[in-house]
Amino acid sequence: MSQLRPLELRSDTFTKPTPAMLEAMFSAEVGDDVFEEDYTVKKLESKAAEMFGYEAGLFCTSGTMTNQIAINVHVNQGDEVICDALSHVYLYEGGGIASNSSASVNLLHGNRGRITAEQIIDVIQPDNLHHPVSRLVSLENTVNKGGGAYYDIQEIVKIKEVCDAHNMALHLDGARIFNALVETKESPKQYGELFDSMSICLSKGLGIPVGSILLGTKDFIKKARRVRKRWGGGWRQAGYLAAAGIYALDNHVDRLTEDHQRARAIGALMSQKSEVLEVLPVDTNIVIFTLDNGILSSDYVKKLADVGIKAATFGKHQVRFVTHLDFTDQDLEEFSVRIKKDIL
Ligand SMILES: *Cc1c(COP(=O)(O)O)cnc(C)c1O
Repeated sequence: MSQLRPLELRSDTFTKPTPAMLEAMFSAEVGDDVFEEDYTVKKLESKAAEMFGYEAGLFCTSGTMTNQIAINVHVNQGDEVICDALSHVYLYEGGGIASNSSASVNLLHGNRGRITAEQIIDVIQPDNLHHPVSRLVSLENTVNKGGGAYYDIQEIVKIKEVCDAHNMALHLDGARIFNALVETKESPKQYGELFDSMSICLSKGLGIPVGSILLGTKDFIKKARRVRKRWGGGWRQAGYLAAAGIYALDNHVDRLTEDHQRARAIGALMSQKSEVLEVLPVDTNIVIFTLDNGILSSDYVKKLADVGIKAATFGKHQVRFVTHLDFTDQDLEEFSVRIKKDIL
């Protein structure tokens, strides 16, 4: 059984560059980016900034780095970041808010990771020397741990008003913002207007080997560039990667809807399995399901691997599949054959 061709569904980070992307990378014009002389990096940064209506961008190695730099620029020691308890910035970045920025968090419990303006108003600290200063609100869209759920933009408009009224900055962890945009048909600029800073990942659904971009005002990005250097993130001929980013922004955004269709098909198949208690609504490219009868996700993921399906544990009883560029219709067909057999 283990000879089966593995179907990779652990994450949308497993994609490899397509031949056309590789060609764009090989022919990139590069320079030393620490000296701000890598033409291709600059081109990617301004392309993304323009797309979302920002003044400037900063190309970095990872979404963790872009998020953590943003937080570091926004907050002072002892301030607090308001975010959902499922947030990547809180749960999956190694305690970075505390260790990189000496800031604390004020955790909300939203609907599949999405918080409301009202919830935020309720927890903003009063201006009193006992309390940390509520300085930043961080949203995630789509929400990874929420099964790829996306926001109603009207709620974000309200959240932005609350932030403005309380002197708080608003950051977006937009690792999968394009997955939200292809569903809602909203424009990147509508999002850019609402957030003081935004992190977008090109290494997820868009399929580049390495890289995320932080977006903001010129002044913000200037500060961010300094933090990136201090943290050892200054890089040299990064234009080879930036070329993949430019290619991906031009060619891999619209096709995300295909990933969403395949994810919905997977969700439907999983909901028919007797060992599956509940499948979270499949809104984009992430399928999260809860196992019945106390079955451990670690056991189930091993059984899936035996039939050549690679999945990620997502908590004790939850399992995650993520569709992506390298998971084709043919793979989906193969998946449906394998999953219909008894897994346990
Ligand atoms: C993947 C991801 C990131 C960034 O992860 P890196 O592996 O550091 O690039 C940030 N936020 C969310 C929601 C993610 O899913």
